[in-house]
Amino acid sequence: MAIYLRGAGSSPGVALGRAVHYLPNSHAWHTVDADIDAAMARFTTAQAMAASQLRTLASLLREEGRTEEARIFDTHSLLVEDETLTQDVERRMREGRISLEQALITAIDALRETISAIEDPYLRERSSDIDSVRRAILTALHGETRRIHDLPIGAILVTNDLTPAEAVSLREGRVAGFATAEGGPTSHTTILARAFGIPAVVGLGAATLAIPDGAPLVLDGYTGLLIVDPDAFEWSSYERRVSGSIAARIRQPPLRDQPGRMASGEPVTIWANISHPLEARSALEQGAEGIGLFRTEFLFLGRNAPPDENEQYEAYRTVVETMEGRPVIIRTLDIGGDKRVDYLDLPHELNPSLGIRGLRLSMRRPDLFQTQIRAMLRAAVHGDLRILLPMVTTPDEVIWAREQIRSAAGSLAQEGIPYRADIPVGVMIETPAAALTADLLAREAAFFSIGTNDLAQYVLAADRTSADVSARYPQNATAVLRLIAQTVGAAVRAHVQVCVCGEIAGVPDVAPLLIGLGVGQLSMNPSSIAAIKERLSETVMTQAQATARSVVHIYL
Ligand code: PEP
Ligand code: MG
Repeated sequence: MAIYLRGAGSSPGVALGRAVHYLPNSHAWHTVDADIDAAMARFTTAQAMAASQLRTLASLLREEGRTEEARIFDTHSLLVEDETLTQDVERRMREGRISLEQALITAIDALRETISAIEDPYLRERSSDIDSVRRAILTALHGETRRIHDLPIGAILVTNDLTPAEAVSLREGRVAGFATAEGGPTSHTTILARAFGIPAVVGLGAATLAIPDGAPLVLDGYTGLLIVDPDAFEWSSYERRVSGSIAARIRQPPLRDQPGRMASGEPVTIWANISHPLEARSALEQGAEGIGLFRTEFLFLGRNAPPDENEQYEAYRTVVETMEGRPVIIRTLDIGGDKRVDYLDLPHELNPSLGIRGLRLSMRRPDLFQTQIRAMLRAAVHGDLRILLPMVTTPDEVIWAREQIRSAAGSLAQEGIPYRADIPVGVMIETPAAALTADLLAREAAFFSIGTNDLAQYVLAADRTSADVSARYPQNATAVLRLIAQTVGAAVRAHVQVCVCGEIAGVPDVAPLLIGLGVGQLSMNPSSIAAIKERLSETVMTQAQATARSVVHIYL
């Protein structure tokens, strides 16, 4: 019988194949080294070897123009050869009479704790990468038990966790994808898998390790699902999806490099949704004409304190520079609902989706908002940056935010820090109230972005995190489409542009309908861009408009 495992994070794509366990460095390490000097000589040689491998990986990535990805491995290579680590390992061997490997493992554990407590946010965030350092040195000491490059072609790699370096080495395409017991949506391994287009599901739990070697697997990186021993029907329906997407990959490259356009010639702007600066380059490679939604939550998750202004400035600047003058719409912090952050100390809410989230949190914590806005205004100097406000319910919230933006600009001016003030400020239309008062919001906003993930949840009273109800009440339900139509009507009258950035923008059967309703831009997961461009290029505008009219059942 099939077993269904759900992951905590994923990288989009579907992979079908047999499970192959990857068990790096599973040696017995308990033999105490009698000659400590000889053990330390082995250790420093392994450190040098590991650092050189990481530096080679970094320079390969740099040659490919992936400077940001390369930086991750620059940091790892420095940590691998850290002098205090070497001294700590030696001290532990001498004082504790333990093996070299045990000394390394305990030293790394201690280092991880120290780094988590450091004030510097960049270093503190790296504490999650410290395991990669341990793995790199152990691999250099012992070699891999099963080299990642020798895994059978087309297999699905199953393991406890992968280091970022191991994830990058999978981009050559030998394995179809990977599934890990540990990891989360914001780990570097997951982010790199997304940046390199490797289908993956992470954080599947300990059950992953019990999957028999050779078991047939379906890995659905779009929904974060791993099916062990799927039945024949499931297997063949996923197989059709894979062959469909292979055929599409062969057909679509020419379209990828062209701007979105209907069969009848009308332009449609296609943007990408990203949640990490590293994803901007792959968005560009997949044919994005800009970033329609940068979810900045990533910068705030999985840490003990919020990122400071400089860290945020670097992240926003990276995206703006990568996009070379194309629009980059950065959303202010939208935490709450399904995403929680302990250090924000928010009160426990019975209905967090209806509570302090999105702009409501910023209004409660103007200090966080000021820091984020200052970082955005500074990064805007480098390109076309626009600000997007999430979970807006009433026009006075937008007026408040714009006042805050003016005051952030004022403080930067006073301090003599370069910034840009003339930045368009847009509003997410994702509460029914915002859609119903779009005419009033249009007076305060430079553009609209319709978030159908939340709009559908609130209009249909269907929790977006519940697989049962969200399948029963889809985002293209008539009630949602009517609110989209109404929002577009108000926006057109006020000469405000409208984008849809919820998941339905990337669904080929729905995208033409949204254009038929008058939406001008679609922003989606980068992996959907080619398919959407293809579908629009096959649809005549009058046909899309007729479908829109018939589905919405109102005169537009
Ligand atoms: C949405 O609600 O549709 C949206 C794009 O925002 P998020 O999914 O981040 O809530
Ligand atoms: Mg939303």
